[in-house]
Amino acid sequence: MAFKCPHCRAQSVSLKDKYKLGWWMTVSCPNCGGRIAAFPWTLLIMTMLYVWNLMWWVGLINFNHSYHYLLYLAICWVLLDLINIYFMPLCRLERPPQS
Ligand SMILES: [Zn+2]
Repeated sequence: MAFKCPHCRAQSVSLKDKYKLGWWMTVSCPNCGGRIAAFPWTLLIMTMLYVWNLMWWVGLINFNHSYHYLLYLAICWVLLDLINIYFMPLCRLERPPQS
């Protein structure tokens, strides 16, 4: 499973690298060496959803004293990870200035 590089359009971004991009990291394309990041506004929305997911279910555990909400937290977390991997648009980063 590979994803398209926004620089060279080759299917060169690995699943592991795509997952890293969803966690505010940057990677370099193994094909063309171009730096890649996830689109920042979608990344911001995803991060807010992760935080909401954590606070919502931990809040319910806290108020209802029932630990089965941990299961819902895990299910939602996996769903968010899947959205993060399959629907997160990528964008190009310019090379850092050479000194
Ligand atoms: Zn590339």
